[in-house]
Amino acid sequence: MQSKCKANAKCKVQNEKYHLRCLECGKTIPDRYTNTCPEGHDSLLRTAYERKRIRKISGKGMFNYIDWLPVEEALSINASPITYKSEDFGKELGLKNLYISFSGYWQEKSVFMKTCTFKEIEAPPTFLRAKERASGKILVVASAGNTSRAFAEVASMTGMPVVAIVPKSCIHRMWTTTENHDCIFLISVDGDYSDAIAISKEIVKIEALGLIEEGGARNVARRDGMGVVELEAAFFMKVLPDYYFQAVGSGTGAIAAWETFIRLIEDGRFGRAMPKIVISQNLPFAPMFSAWQDGRAEIIADKDMRNAEEAIKKMYADVLSTRNPPYSVKGGVYDMLGSSNGRIYGITNEECRIAEKLFESEEGIDLDPAASVVCASLIKAVDEGFVKKDAKILLNITGGGYKRLREDYKMYEIEERMELNPCSSVQLPLDEIERGVKEFESTELLASRRVVNV
Ligand SMILES: *Cc1c(COP(=O)(O)O)cnc(C)c1O
Ligand SMILES: [Zn+2]
Repeated sequence: MQSKCKANAKCKVQNEKYHLRCLECGKTIPDRYTNTCPEGHDSLLRTAYERKRIRKISGKGMFNYIDWLPVEEALSINASPITYKSEDFGKELGLKNLYISFSGYWQEKSVFMKTCTFKEIEAPPTFLRAKERASGKILVVASAGNTSRAFAEVASMTGMPVVAIVPKSCIHRMWTTTENHDCIFLISVDGDYSDAIAISKEIVKIEALGLIEEGGARNVARRDGMGVVELEAAFFMKVLPDYYFQAVGSGTGAIAAWETFIRLIEDGRFGRAMPKIVISQNLPFAPMFSAWQDGRAEIIADKDMRNAEEAIKKMYADVLSTRNPPYSVKGGVYDMLGSSNGRIYGITNEECRIAEKLFESEEGIDLDPAASVVCASLIKAVDEGFVKKDAKILLNITGGGYKRLREDYKMYEIEERMELNPCSSVQLPLDEIERGVKEFESTELLASRRVVNV
């Protein structure tokens, strides 16, 4: 607590557990589920926590790191990533200090994320932040599938409702390990990820509904939730890595890593050098890779996303097909790469397959296609001599373990409640959407009282 502010009412915000800060104007902003600077700056907001030395408490999964999560309470969800030191994959690449962060389902390693990706650590703090800071409005989440699945799983486990909007081609990713899907209003869109986002923006505008846009990369709860990967790694490794590797679509996870490293450096116990952040995209759709290669801070659609639709269809890891990543925004991917002396790789499908095979046979767990991209980028960086063989490397395996999960659980497909076609009609059937969601709200608001808190 900052004593000099005690008598000053304006400083009340500083007595909270955290506040938000705009990186452009530096203003301190109290959190009312605020995702953009009230002054209109094109900057990410960043959380500033009162507690500079983080504690790791026990028995609460990812909420062991609640000091650096923008929430007051914890959910009784035991999802959390783990870190371990790789023996076999590391040896194969000649690396002496390869650490793997694994988000997914892997019993032997005691990691139980039942939607098998690190999106599952974005969802719980986001739900809680909405409950605490947006008076429990219903979240609307648009995604290529993995995000919406994670939100759906947490919704069905806690009773907190969600409206999920997913491209039709990704609907196969919408399942949970729980049978009851009463809390999930699933809308499929005959279009791609960007169409799903556009529709979600229209739907939250329907005033008669108490909906709130989840916020994507601009939502601090999502970023700080993913920061748990780096926190878990820091407590395991006792020191920050020299290099951090991750496959990116939006880059939100990598921005989160950077922000968490900044906090850990401030903490003081884990070393003072910022890790080099090495990100990777899957060719042929790799807009940030293309812009960065060209030395640009902006993505130019005509140059970096030519034939986007075709390119996305060709991707091995199409969950990485974000068309509007937070690249140029202040505090975004461009800034992150620059300030961490980072690098970005473009990875072909063939390189993905080779890397995936090697990783799976050496480490003994199946990968999400996006995680194959990061494995390939590490192989490339080692081949190029970019990483030294004795460097400490943190490889973020952002998803995997689907095969194991299938052995232990039944997967229940989520049925869509509505199908929208943004191309065929100029006008969305907003009346129909309003009616549908209203009916859902009236039943689900009751259910939301069932929230399980620790
Ligand atoms: C979403 C996702 C990514 C990319 O994360 P971003 O934060 O969008 O860059 C990587 N791997 C998996 C498994 C994902 O689901
Ligand atoms: Zn500002």
